[in-house]
Amino acid sequence: MTPALNPTQQRTLDLLRRPPTPTVFDRAAIDHLIDEVNDALEMFTHRLETVGVDSLFVNKTFISSILGCEDHHLHRAKFVPNIGTTTGTVAHRAIELLIGWRGEPLPSVLVDEAIARLSEKPNDLGDFLAGLSDADRADLTNAATDRVVKFTESFPPLSQRFIPVAESSIRWPEAGGIILGGKSDLTLGRAENGESRKVIIDLKTGGSWPNHADDLRFYALVDTLRTGIPPRLIASFYLDAGRAVPETVTTETLRAAVRRTFDAIHRAVELAEGQSPQRLPQASCRWCPLIAECAEGSAWLAEQRGDDD
Ligand code: SF4
Repeated sequence: MTPALNPTQQRTLDLLRRPPTPTVFDRAAIDHLIDEVNDALEMFTHRLETVGVDSLFVNKTFISSILGCEDHHLHRAKFVPNIGTTTGTVAHRAIELLIGWRGEPLPSVLVDEAIARLSEKPNDLGDFLAGLSDADRADLTNAATDRVVKFTESFPPLSQRFIPVAESSIRWPEAGGIILGGKSDLTLGRAENGESRKVIIDLKTGGSWPNHADDLRFYALVDTLRTGIPPRLIASFYLDAGRAVPETVTTETLRAAVRRTFDAIHRAVELAEGQSPQRLPQASCRWCPLIAECAEGSAWLAEQRGDDD
């Protein structure tokens, strides 16, 4: 028997239900789009090779970064883990465990297990987690548990019948000078018999930003390139609000993703060829390593603070 759902879970379930009419894309239009991407990647790869660049990995962070302030993109500070930046990673790992777990584990048990597993990784994050003080560990556990609880309050129990997959890695093509890739937080369903059934979901804390939709369209594009069949729906799910912002995938959705992805790759190629990076003041000025010598960024920050008079 299906357990009683709370209103948020029911709303999420209603959103995720397949429509009565199967979603089937025009095969020729998708094949044409894939051919266009292939041709463009080949051309950009050739240009990169000409200036001695033999590999470029393109993910959602790369695209947002280079389409923001190009100087910041080229001088990004090395990622340093802290409680704030690690909470999402731990929570996502805990949700991944939840989806494969048999029974009904407590959220805090999942978070403890997520921290333990991530601590074993031979990377900066693993070192940071392995060296946590008791107080920092408590803060991290509380923050990550909050997200896991919100997830369980927002989603119906995800039986295997939904074909749930957490942290699904996708990349395309399998080899070459330019690889498109990423990892979606949660996918449900899969393409069957030419019918688009997959839903790609990104879990978010905090508020909504325009690039959230762009990120999901990029995932939809990469998934289409690797399977030949687009997902039927993409959705940002805002855990703090318990609300999803869904978008039905269309050919135009995929075309928008192609344009944005190739705008980003085009600029990467031009920068590699020697063009000067453009500065674009924005929120990242606050943590930009160039702020001390960047007049544009300093002026923008002063304006934001309202102290430029
Ligand atoms: S301070 Fe702002 S405008 Fe200047 S390089 Fe950094 S991000 Fe760009």
